[in-house]
Amino acid sequence: MAFDLSTVKLDDAQEQLERNVFLGTLEQIKGWARSHSLWPLQFGLACCAIEMMGTGGAHYDLDRFGVIFRASPRQADVMIVAGTVTKKMAPLLRRLYDQMPDPKWVIAMGSCATAGGPYVNSYSVVKGVDQIVPVDVYIPGCPPNPAALIYGINKLQEKIRYEAKTGKRVIQDE
Ligand code: SF4
Repeated sequence: MAFDLSTVKLDDAQEQLERNVFLGTLEQIKGWARSHSLWPLQFGLACCAIEMMGTGGAHYDLDRFGVIFRASPRQADVMIVAGTVTKKMAPLLRRLYDQMPDPKWVIAMGSCATAGGPYVNSYSVVKGVDQIVPVDVYIPGCPPNPAALIYGINKLQEKIRYEAKTGKRVIQDE
């Protein structure tokens, strides 16, 4: 059957083009690819980790965003700090961060990782993981639910694409 060009609407054609054709610099394409293939290091420290595990399960299905958890820092480019960071754990957290290859990002999940949470007055708890590693996205809540974690990951994806586009590294606490 012959293809009738007169039936193709200009608006439809433009929409299809925008959906299916991606133009950009090599850095932008790399940023786009990285943002859709984030591999977080498994790093559950306390109760927030239960929500993180739930988000990775079948119901919320983090895989659909290209988020695949890894057990080795050598294979990971995102650290999701889910839980209370104790002073005893802090040097190990930093060592794992240093073992991750660049480029890498950090999500502080929950009140404890963000600022100490309910243990802010404890002698043994770090008042925010940003005292040890640079944090890209903070997710509030005690604990944040899976929807909040997914939102935080989406924000990190936007940030990675922005950084690739502008060539600027944006750290929240700078
Ligand atoms: S923020 Fe709340 S839920 Fe998360 S690790 Fe701290 S105490 Fe537990």
